[in-house]
Amino acid sequence: MTATGHAVIGTVIAAKIGNPALAIPLAIASHALADSFPHWDPATNRKDKGIKQVTREAFFDVVLGFALSYILIQLLFPQVNIFYAFTIIIASQLLDWIAAPYYFFKIKFAPFVWSYKFQKKIEHRLDKPWGIINQIAIIALLVVLAKIF
Ligand SMILES: [Zn+2]
Repeated sequence: MTATGHAVIGTVIAAKIGNPALAIPLAIASHALADSFPHWDPATNRKDKGIKQVTREAFFDVVLGFALSYILIQLLFPQVNIFYAFTIIIASQLLDWIAAPYYFFKIKFAPFVWSYKFQKKIEHRLDKPWGIINQIAIIALLVVLAKIF
C-alpha cells in the first residue's frame, strides 16, 4: 500500500486506541494486512519507470501521508496527541522503513532484506487507476467508521 494509506490507518489506530502497548503491535500488523489488499504504490512497475522516479514518488507519498494525517487529526480527531499519532503512523509504516535501505540502496543487512522479502510474499499489486481508487475508498471508509464509532 502507499505510505499515505498506511499513515491514515496509523492515524485511525492512534485515534481509537490510546494504549501504546496495544496500538503499536496492531499498527505493525496492519501493514501486512493492508499490503495483502490489491493496491498500487510507488514501487509498482519499478522496472518501467526506474528507481529515480520510484524515489520521487515515494518521497511525495511519505510527505502526503504525514500532511493528510495531520489534517485528519486537526479536523476529525483533535483529541489525539500529535506525537502519539506520529509514533503509531511510523509503526504502521515500519516494515517499509525497515525494507527501504535494501530497496533503495541495496544494503544487505538481514532485517532490511527480510522485511523486503516478507512483503514481496504477502503483497498484492493492482495497477492504476483501480489500485488507487480502491485504496482511497477503503481508507475513506475506515476514517468514517472511526469517526462514527
Ligand atoms: Zn509495505
